[in-house]
Amino acid sequence: MLVKKGLEMADLPASARVVIIGGGVVGVSALYHLAKAGWTDCVLLEKNELTAGSTWHAAGNIPTFSNSWVIANMQRYSTELYRRLGEEVDYPMNYHVTDSVRLAHSKQRMQEFERAAGMARM
Ligand SMILES: Cc1cc2nc3c(=O)[nH]c(=O)nc-3n(C[C@H](O)[C@H](O)[C@H](O)COP(=O)(O)OP(=O)(O)OC[C@H]3O[C@@H](n4cnc5c(N)ncnc54)[C@H](O)[C@@H]3O)c2cc1C
Repeated sequence: MLVKKGLEMADLPASARVVIIGGGVVGVSALYHLAKAGWTDCVLLEKNELTAGSTWHAAGNIPTFSNSWVIANMQRYSTELYRRLGEEVDYPMNYHVTDSVRLAHSKQRMQEFERAAGMARM
């Protein structure tokens, strides 16, 4: 990945296989995964600085609880990725894995948690 700052329109390639607009976590992740899959000729355009949008403000909390099987699997994939990413890209990352506490204050809430726990084991 090559990062070029302060480019004029004339400096940009006339065409690319993929153009990603926005260098927040979503855009950068898309570019990372394209590169991992062997796609070259991909361009990411960021109007400000990388991570200058919402990503800059994020508290860095990485949720690991969801009632959606799809989201739970994305979370599983992400946490596995973050464990090795620093080493993979040779950049020091502070990834601290902590536990969390959720209180079930009703029977329905408890059932919801049991469902999520069952899904997480799949
Ligand atoms: C205060 C706060 C705390 C948060 N805490 C957490 C947290 O703890 N955990 C969590 O998971 N999520 C958290 N979030 C949510 C998380 O930050 C966002 O969901 C995530 O960063 C969104 O990423 P994104 O790439 O979609 O958007 P952004 O990070 O906003 O990236 C979009 C980028 O696109 C660029 N852009 C826009 N238009 C153009 C254009 N026309 N041309 C070129 N570039 C353009 C912007 O400059 C920006 O850099 C938090 C959000 C906030 C605001």
